[in-house]
Amino acid sequence: MKTWRQRLAAILEWSPVDKGMVSVAMIIPIYIQYLIWGLYALQRPDREQLVDVAVMDRLVVIMIGFIAGAVLIGLLGFLLRRRHPHLLLFQYVSSLYYGLTLVVAGYFVGTMSMAAGVVLMGGPLFGFVLLDRRLVWVAFLAALALLVALTYATAFGLLPYAPIMRPALDASSNLFWINSYYFFAAPHLIVILVLVDQTLSWWRKREDMIRVLSRTDVLTGIHNRRSILDLLEREWARTHRHGPPMCVVLLDLDHFKKINDSWGHPVGDRVLQQAAAMLGSSIRQCDAVGRYGGEEFMLLLPHTTLAGAESLVERCRENLAGISIRSDSGETFSISASFGLVCNEQCLGLSAEALIKAADDALYRAKAAGRNCVVAVAATEKKQDPLLA
Ligand code: GH3
Ligand code: MG
Ligand code: MG
Repeated sequence: MKTWRQRLAAILEWSPVDKGMVSVAMIIPIYIQYLIWGLYALQRPDREQLVDVAVMDRLVVIMIGFIAGAVLIGLLGFLLRRRHPHLLLFQYVSSLYYGLTLVVAGYFVGTMSMAAGVVLMGGPLFGFVLLDRRLVWVAFLAALALLVALTYATAFGLLPYAPIMRPALDASSNLFWINSYYFFAAPHLIVILVLVDQTLSWWRKREDMIRVLSRTDVLTGIHNRRSILDLLEREWARTHRHGPPMCVVLLDLDHFKKINDSWGHPVGDRVLQQAAAMLGSSIRQCDAVGRYGGEEFMLLLPHTTLAGAESLVERCRENLAGISIRSDSGETFSISASFGLVCNEQCLGLSAEALIKAADDALYRAKAAGRNCVVAVAATEKKQDPLLA
């Protein structure tokens, strides 16, 4: 069962037409709310002191027209969402309708009002989260141009300012207009703030998840190659020059191809998972294990001397050799791995790449020595050939 937050966040994954329908779904209740406000004002006994009744009658008709227009655009969206769900043009239509009609509605109560400000700022904010950014700019600039034109038309006396309003003569009409402005602004504020808050927190969560996924090996759940190499670089930067020694281990499962060939690829995958889990539980908390390649793993052992690493790696080797794997047919078999270990105890200036190369050479020697063993070496700087110098 999805929570309302998950449902709200899922809006971001909707098709362009469905997203365009959100503006339509928002605007219809808003105009119904304005219509109710108009009808309420008209039935008040003191209506003549509050509003210009003739203009209000006209505004009620305009509101009904705006609702009808939005319903038509909504119906168009319903038709399009199955056949052309990616039609961006629909978002242009619904956004322009949203922006321009709200400016017209805002003109009746004053273009320089709080409600107009909230819509002007909130609309694009809501749009940038949900819609195509170019069209948000287009709709915003069109609405702004209309707003500016109407405002200057009132300044030059071409149009009356806030034609629906009567000058507030007493406390009661003052209160009516203050309440009205809050009433106009509230739905925009609530919807926009909730939507922006929820979608941004969902984005943050998704970003965290993507960061973890980008560093995790899908099959085994340990560090992937990129992540373990990043850790190596970071650890190397900490230890090179005067820091404590660190060890790098490359290990490769023995005759893994034979395991795949004899028991099948899914069993091979299970072997990799169990080996990774065993390595993870055999090392210390400050160490790290990552999948370096197909059946190759890398261990990073910071703050570790060669002697300390040798006993830790020997323990890993024994633990791996002790794993019992069950095939699909119920038979059990064991695995082993060869280890190449290098420690920068003596030579702290060696690069991270040189350490990997030395660990790889040691692994190669462990394979050549018959497998299921550890070859440990202390890193040494390559002597430059005096003839090449
Ligand atoms: P060696 O003892 O010399 O290391 O022999 P090996 O058979 O382990 O080495 P080789 O490089 O010949 O074979 C490695 C095999 O690992 C081949 C490849 O198909 C298999 N492999 C690589 N990645 C995966 C994986 O994700 N899942 C499975 N099941 N097998 C994989
Ligand atoms: Mg290999
Ligand atoms: Mg192998």
